[in-house]
Amino acid sequence: MAEERFSRARFIRLGAALGVGAAGASVLASCSDGGGEGPSDVRGGGSTEADENSGGPTADATGDEIIFAAGLLLPVSAPPVRDGALLVRNGRIAAVGPISEVERDNSGVEVRYFPRHTIIPGAVNTHAHLGFRRGDAPRGGSFSGWVKELVSRLPEKESWTPEAARGSAREAVESGTTFITDSSPFGECLPQLVESGLAGIVFAEFFPFMFDTPEEAVNAIENAVFALRERLPSRVLVEMSVHAPYTVDPESSRLAATRTRERGERLAIHLSESPEEVEFVRKGTGGGLESIFEAFGMRADWGGVGVSPVQYAESVGLLGPATIAAHLATGVSEEDMEILVRTGVAAAHCPRSNEYLGCGVSPVPEMLDRGIRVGMGTDGLWSSPSMNLFEETLFAIELHGLDGETGLKLATLYGAQALGVEKETGSLESGKWADCAVVEVAPGEAGESPEMQVLEAAASGGVAATVVGGELLYDKLAEGAS
Ligand SMILES: [Zn+2]
Repeated sequence: MAEERFSRARFIRLGAALGVGAAGASVLASCSDGGGEGPSDVRGGGSTEADENSGGPTADATGDEIIFAAGLLLPVSAPPVRDGALLVRNGRIAAVGPISEVERDNSGVEVRYFPRHTIIPGAVNTHAHLGFRRGDAPRGGSFSGWVKELVSRLPEKESWTPEAARGSAREAVESGTTFITDSSPFGECLPQLVESGLAGIVFAEFFPFMFDTPEEAVNAIENAVFALRERLPSRVLVEMSVHAPYTVDPESSRLAATRTRERGERLAIHLSESPEEVEFVRKGTGGGLESIFEAFGMRADWGGVGVSPVQYAESVGLLGPATIAAHLATGVSEEDMEILVRTGVAAAHCPRSNEYLGCGVSPVPEMLDRGIRVGMGTDGLWSSPSMNLFEETLFAIELHGLDGETGLKLATLYGAQALGVEKETGSLESGKWADCAVVEVAPGEAGESPEMQVLEAAASGGVAATVVGGELLYDKLAEGAS
């Protein structure tokens, strides 16, 4: 690695307060050594944004084909198909249609048939933190109280973060997720995301208070990101995250945003999440966030600029079409939404986390009406009850009074559009990766919305199989039998 300005010793020393130093450094070490838990599952034909201009690896030479078929298939981007099937070739969808036709045109190809089931696109989780676990979450009710407890437990957390990340990813797989985004300090959960077999993006967060200058902070996270990108599987990306308006100063935010924009990369942020954040940006006080600034020895003296977090974020250059803003739950005004439209920002909606932390309700129907791209996110297990994105989506449907069709799109295609990966995943169309979930429900002929029935089943443990790039990552029947 060529990033000595990153100063690993300094990261470890300062990271002790944060509880992420050693773990972050070990991620870097395993990547720079080209060993450790390095990616083992490089699928063929990768054409993610990261490598589409590089010629990319050639397609899998085995030419594997399989047909997945079910009583109902919901492509999301096209009308439902009764007794539908999809042909998978080299991990990608080669045909979608009635079973009779797909079988007729591809005789001799193995068929995996799920008669009383529905095949849907896999869930696309646009905002998650893999490194938290169930069962001992900090108390909810107030965002600042929750963050304060979280910070106090960071030293203890370090020992179990990898195990938590593994568990979170597995839970996502078993509930039908095929593409996940993780946000973790310096990308520390990348090894577990890779290990899970999921496609996805790790957004590496950085905290400038660990460094002397914005330049040093941004160089450090850039170099960490560059190192993590070495030897990635073709469907896993590493990008940068400017954590939040109250943890990253304006100069570091602007510099990080400029550099990522110049390279055409994505940028993740937490934005307009809590009443405390709104107060900090507007007035300079944080209604409880001060205790966190003290714990980290941060000056955090840049608040009090008299505008909303969205307006502030625009003023420091954080907003653009490649930005995905998580939450947007507190105090998002009409004016803010106009900014979101104008700048082309996408939103990651995490309603269960927002409720748990007393952060209000994101104006999702209004954002959808204005054409703002919105996807669903579970957040992590310390602020949310599960990694099941369909359960998250059902909660959003009830919260906002949405219909099942919109809900299924939010959980799949809209999420892919929010992240800019809609050419690769998010619906069942020829050419896209074969990313799908098989759900234990066979919706009836008339009346009820099949999308709603499928979402309800998938939200409550009814996923029978999860397929990522044509590969069965989860097969309930097989696991039950073994
Ligand atoms: Zn988050």
